[in-house]
Amino acid sequence: MPVRRSRREFIANSLWAGAALAASACGRAGTGAPAIGPAIDRMRAGFRGNIIVPGDAGYDAARAVFWKNPLTDRRPAVIARCAGEEDVARAIELAVEQQVPLAVRGGGHSFVGWGTCDDGVVIDTSAMNAVSIDPAARIARAGAGVPTRELVAAAAPYGLVPVVGQCPGVGLAGFILGGGLGWLSGSHGAACDHLVSAEVVSADGRRLVASATEHSDLFWALRGGGGNFGVATTLTCRLYPVASVTAGTISFPLADARRAIRAFADLMEGAPDELQARAVLTRDGQPAVHINVCWTGEPGQAGGILRPLRGLGAPVRDTVQPLAAFGDTFAMSGGGVPRTYTAVKGSYLERLSPEAIDLIVDRLAEAPGSGAAIGLDHYMHGAVCRVPADATAFELRTANAVHIWVSAGWDAPGDGPASTGWIDATWEALQAHAAGRVYTNFPAAEGDEAARAAYRDNYSRLASVKRTYDPTNVFQRNHNLRS
Ligand SMILES: Cc1cc2nc3c(=O)[nH]c(=O)nc-3n(C[C@H](O)[C@H](O)[C@H](O)COP(=O)(O)OP(=O)(O)OC[C@H]3O[C@@H](n4cnc5c(N)ncnc54)[C@H](O)[C@@H]3O)c2cc1C
Repeated sequence: MPVRRSRREFIANSLWAGAALAASACGRAGTGAPAIGPAIDRMRAGFRGNIIVPGDAGYDAARAVFWKNPLTDRRPAVIARCAGEEDVARAIELAVEQQVPLAVRGGGHSFVGWGTCDDGVVIDTSAMNAVSIDPAARIARAGAGVPTRELVAAAAPYGLVPVVGQCPGVGLAGFILGGGLGWLSGSHGAACDHLVSAEVVSADGRRLVASATEHSDLFWALRGGGGNFGVATTLTCRLYPVASVTAGTISFPLADARRAIRAFADLMEGAPDELQARAVLTRDGQPAVHINVCWTGEPGQAGGILRPLRGLGAPVRDTVQPLAAFGDTFAMSGGGVPRTYTAVKGSYLERLSPEAIDLIVDRLAEAPGSGAAIGLDHYMHGAVCRVPADATAFELRTANAVHIWVSAGWDAPGDGPASTGWIDATWEALQAHAAGRVYTNFPAAEGDEAARAAYRDNYSRLASVKRTYDPTNVFQRNHNLRS
């Protein structure tokens, strides 16, 4: 199906194009801003973590993020791998004093590379990864940069599980501050619903605790408003007992994709809270639609619940089985093979309608290479949709909405424009079904229009909190609120 290019597509395209153009103009966009070198040297004294600058042996590894493409291939002036809140405060101060960009990174999984920047300061929280569990209170206290797999592993010996996403490497703060959806969202809600408190360093270097009783305006905003308000250093969140997990992947040939995704949509429209699922269409290897399912109800009921999928005919793969531990869900694959370059855009569907399904299947067939994939994450039913929209800043809680990721991977640099062009055109076509919305953690674009699409009804209240805690907009690498 040919896709018309619109003004919005042009704007979306310019994300990659602008980055590529800047890169080619001077070897690449960032120069490492040697001008702030003396200020970086002053910061070294007493800094407990690591300071990494261009020319250091580990610089290229330290600047790399999860997605590798022209948009995310940035050269910061310094990567401040902070050991604690004191380091964080000093790194913020450096960026403010030197008037250079500031990026905050945990797991580095941002779709649009918000965890890095050119010529500025990257606050890397990955070393702030301590976790302590209070099993009696069912509470975890975790460093902001802990990868979600480590939090899951720390809670597992107590039979407890946090609400986390499907990817083991996503950073805890980046995940929770954007809302945070995963296999337990039907039964327990969004991750941000379970935040008890957050310790934050604000733009002016103050250490704040945000909770229901302290800085409650900030606490409300942090639960869905993303990285707009400060650097979270420690998060305290609730954990839940999960008695059993039955999970795995049922895959069908791509030729059956329409039928399989319709069955997936029907299944999830009436899904019990304990069932979560996503469908991933891939062209790598044996092209297929992979339906990952996670059932946390009675194990004996799983067969009946999944009958509509299995009744479709012979799947090419069916790995659904009781798992030894919740952490084993991280091994569930959506297919695909590693590529040198990868790019992605997030979209939102109000509902997985037959028209949207046709569009998705048609668009995958038009992808330029075998590294293309489209994922349909169905998190939205049950507990996550029962929380009032204004209870937290995360108000995008429409039942049966679907979060989409459109991704491509390629190996030869020359294949990049065709791949990113396909992502853009697919994203543009999906907007007819997106109701003008986007999930903060699945971004596709930057700018005011995108931020309003993320926060809509909560935008004004969030902007007011932004004026209080970050009046000069130090924290911009996010769905940025105009204060
Ligand atoms: C493979 C993959 C699978 C995913 N699966 C899911 C899923 O199942 N459910 C879901 O909801 N999302 C999912 N996501 C999206 C993910 O939640 C977001 O990309 C999230 O922002 C990543 O956090 P990070 O720390 O890894 O990323 P980073 O790039 O390090 O950070 C992203 C942004 O988060 C903010 N941030 C990070 N740390 C801090 C901090 N300490 N203080 C303040 N702001 C901070 C900043 O704005 C930063 O720029 C997935 C992403 C990927 C790539």
